[in-house]
Amino acid sequence: SLHPETFKTLLRSAAEQVIASAPELTSLDQAIGDGDHGTNMKRGFEAVLGKLDAISAQPLDAALKMIGKTLVMTVGGASGPLYGSFFLAAGEAASHHGQLPHDLADIFDSGVSAVSARGRSRAGEKTMLDVLIPVLETLRTAAGQADLIDRVRAIAAEAAERTAPMRATKGRASFLGERSVGHVDPGARSSCVLVQAVCAGLE
Ligand code: ADP
Ligand code: MG
Ligand code: MG
Repeated sequence: SLHPETFKTLLRSAAEQVIASAPELTSLDQAIGDGDHGTNMKRGFEAVLGKLDAISAQPLDAALKMIGKTLVMTVGGASGPLYGSFFLAAGEAASHHGQLPHDLADIFDSGVSAVSARGRSRAGEKTMLDVLIPVLETLRTAAGQADLIDRVRAIAAEAAERTAPMRATKGRASFLGERSVGHVDPGARSSCVLVQAVCAGLE
């Protein structure tokens, strides 16, 4: 299991990396959306940083739920409720399983399913799910292997890039139809940043 100080360091660093990626997320969303994904995510993860002590004092399940609530209240747009649902459902799953790293894939799976249910979306629609689903598959297939973290990190980057040739059928980018092709999805990119930041913190 994760030591509270390790969790705190990991969460701080992940939040800082999302915040640092805001200009890139905004420019991706300027291409195929309304240009606010960077500011949305920055606002949300600044709020998480503001509650860092309170969140990291909690057991994993409650901490994940606090992150989810914070994101729901602060991020806005389509991505706020979706990332919020991810962490709320992951927290709920952690309260039943909760044995890290053994149950990591099950906890992550609950988060992914919640995004899919809330967004009425699935793989191939050029969204954050096009990163989250391949990451989940890698968590399952490479579970327990020594190179798990490297593989997750690599698949997150690859999967985000693979959204570029996709045509969006969900979210604002879907309004562009064919014109959404040729750009990486902003939410896929933010999921990649988050997953990679957590990977870096686990090393
Ligand atoms: P908005 O576009 O509503 O302003 P954001 O810019 O913060 O919200 O987030 C946009 C991102 O949200 C998209 O790039 C996409 O990855 C994700 N997204 C939007 N709708 C859905 C959905 N139905 N299912 C999954 N992800 C979605
Ligand atoms: Mg947007
Ligand atoms: Mg918006």
